[in-house]
Amino acid sequence: MKINIDENSGFCFGVVYAVEKAESFLERNNPLFCLGDIVHNDLEIKRLHEKGLKTIDINYFKKLKNQTVLIRAHGEAPDTYKIANENNINLIDASCPIVLKLQIKIKKAFEQMKLKNGQVVIFGKKGHAEVVGLNGNTLNSAIIISSEDDLDQIDFLKPISLFSQTTKSATSYFKIIEKIKKRLITDDFTYLDSVCKQVSNRDKDLKLFCKNNDLIIFVSGVKSSNGKMLYDVCSSQNPYAKFISSTDEIKTEWFKNVNSVGITGATSTPSWLLVQTKQFIQKINFEK
Ligand code: SF4
Repeated sequence: MKINIDENSGFCFGVVYAVEKAESFLERNNPLFCLGDIVHNDLEIKRLHEKGLKTIDINYFKKLKNQTVLIRAHGEAPDTYKIANENNINLIDASCPIVLKLQIKIKKAFEQMKLKNGQVVIFGKKGHAEVVGLNGNTLNSAIIISSEDDLDQIDFLKPISLFSQTTKSATSYFKIIEKIKKRLITDDFTYLDSVCKQVSNRDKDLKLFCKNNDLIIFVSGVKSSNGKMLYDVCSSQNPYAKFISSTDEIKTEWFKNVNSVGITGATSTPSWLLVQTKQFIQKINFEK
């Protein structure tokens, strides 16, 4: 049985940057606080916790003083920087540059929409850290839509400026754009293709990878939006696509009559976990 690791899988550069910043600080100092999970992958978080990283939530952060806190790739709302300043917090800002650019564009759109009584709309997951950070740049006034069912929240008479969370599916985003266009009464509608190319460009190669292997093992944390989206791509191409968060979830019976296994994952899945998954499967095969 052949076991192939998808060469396009592993962390996106935004996550690589955040993890490298955390590790480089921890080599010299301890502890380092991280506001929220550094990446949506429990095993990678566990590895970094063992090095001294401490994950904290916003309530803990508000009370923290004179410490160093890492801002992860998802970015943060302006309020977080204000609190850090007031509490003498040294921030290590590992916000992904793509997210930072999007925040600036949303802030600008918010200022423009204010002048013409318009609306900033964000296609994203409600409560997701990146969406919270983006919305913070509109003084939390943006309309967050997660699906077509949420479109009724938009006033189609008023100007609309639409953005997407970076990790949403480009296909779903463009479907939403078409639905909005059909309901428009205003002629003032703009949208930005803000889906990250590290995510959208993976679709095509991933589809081919899924077709070229009998069985797909998709490795991702359950909290990863991008993981959910890419797994949907896999299962649309290969009925034998299995979602796992760790090797404990692998079942021997999946491998019956299988000639090739493809291992892939989300942009938040570390490469070492994909290699570990391959080694685990090689062992099952060996014992047969
Ligand atoms: S998916 Fe794209 S935008 Fe999000 S952290 Fe990775 S590189 Fe940055």
